[in-house]
Amino acid sequence: MAEKRDYYEVLGVSKSATPDEIKKAYRKLAMKYHPDRNHEPGAEDKFKEINEAYEVLSDEKKRATYDQFGHAGMDGAFGQGGGFSGGFTDFSDLGDIFGSFFGGGFGGGGSRRSSNQPRQGQDRYMQMRIDFMDSIFGKTETISLDVDETCKHCNGSGAESPRDVQTCPTCHGSGYVMSQQRTPFGVIQQQSVCPDCHGTGKKVTRACSHCHGKGYEHRRVKLDIKIPAGIQSGQQIRIPQKGERGSNGGPNGDLYIEIMVTPHPTFKREDNNIFIKVPISSIDATIGCTIQVPTVYGDVELKIPEGTQPNTKFRLKGKGVKSRSGEGDEFVEVQVEIPRKVSRRERELYEELKSGQAESPFERFKRAFK
Ligand SMILES: [Zn+2]
Ligand SMILES: [Zn+2]
Repeated sequence: MAEKRDYYEVLGVSKSATPDEIKKAYRKLAMKYHPDRNHEPGAEDKFKEINEAYEVLSDEKKRATYDQFGHAGMDGAFGQGGGFSGGFTDFSDLGDIFGSFFGGGFGGGGSRRSSNQPRQGQDRYMQMRIDFMDSIFGKTETISLDVDETCKHCNGSGAESPRDVQTCPTCHGSGYVMSQQRTPFGVIQQQSVCPDCHGTGKKVTRACSHCHGKGYEHRRVKLDIKIPAGIQSGQQIRIPQKGERGSNGGPNGDLYIEIMVTPHPTFKREDNNIFIKVPISSIDATIGCTIQVPTVYGDVELKIPEGTQPNTKFRLKGKGVKSRSGEGDEFVEVQVEIPRKVSRRERELYEELKSGQAESPFERFKRAFK
C-alpha cells in the first residue's frame, strides 16, 4: 500500500478545522466520490480514504490520538481497509453515511444532554435495483418494510391516558441521577441516566393497553414506492418517516431509497439522451436504405442516405428520455460492416462494380502523391 496521506489533507481542511468544517468537507467529498455516482477509476479507493479520514477526525478522541501520534496511533483502529473493504453491499454502513447527509444531524452518539426531549429517529438507507426500461418510464414498486410506528392510541407516550403520566420521582424529571464513586484518585461524581425512567423524566402509572407501554408498534408495512420516469442510477427517493423510530415521542427518521439502474445491452444513456449503435452493410451505406431502429418507444423508421460514412450519427428527435429535467433525443450510430467472406457470385458482382469504377481512392491518392 502506498504511503498513507494525512487525514487533514484527505479532507482538505486545516489542522484547526472545527467539527463543522470537517463535516462539511466530508459531505462534499463523499458525495463526489461515492462509487455509485463516480465510476472513474480510483473513485472507490478515494471514497474509502475519505471515510477513513472522517471516521477519525469526526471523533474527538480519535482525532486527539491522531494529532498526537499520526497514523501510528491509529494502528488497530482499522483492520485491513477497515469496515470499507467489503464492497458496498453492507447497507447498514451506508445507511449511517447517508443518514447523516439528510437531516437528522449526525445523530446518535453526541447529544445525550437532551435525552428527555423528543428526538427524530435515524434515517434509513436502502438500495433498489430496477430495469433500464422502468427507469425510463417510471413505475410503482411495492416493498415490504419493518417499521416502528408511533402508537396511535397513546401518541407515543406509552400511557393509557395523559393522566397516567407522572414526573419521575427518582430524578424529579431531569432524566439523570448523580452518583459518587470512590477511587484511588478520590471521589468521582458521575451523572448517569436515571435507571427508573431511563432518561425520559416521566413515569407511566398505567401502560397503554394497545402497545403495552412501548409507545410504538412494530409493523410490517407495504409501501408503494413511486419511481419517477427518467430516474438515473444514484438518485434517491425519500419516504418520510419510515426510518428508525424516534425517541420520547419524536418522529421517525426518513427512508432513503437509492436507485440502481441495470444497464441495457443496447441502449446507453447519457443525461436524457440515448445512444445506440446499429450495424449496416457497406452496400446499404453506399446506396442508402431505410431501417427500423429500436427506440425505447418502439421501432422508428430511419432513412440512411446514399454515401453514409462509417460511424455517422443520426438524431431521432424526442426519442430520448423524458424526465423532469427535460426531453432528450436518440442518437443512432451506424457501424458499416465489411463482409469477411464473399461468395463466388458476390465476388463476380463486386468485380463488375470495380471494373466500372473510373479511379479507386488509392489510385487517386497515389496520383496526388507524385
Ligand atoms: Zn427518572
Ligand atoms: Zn400505546
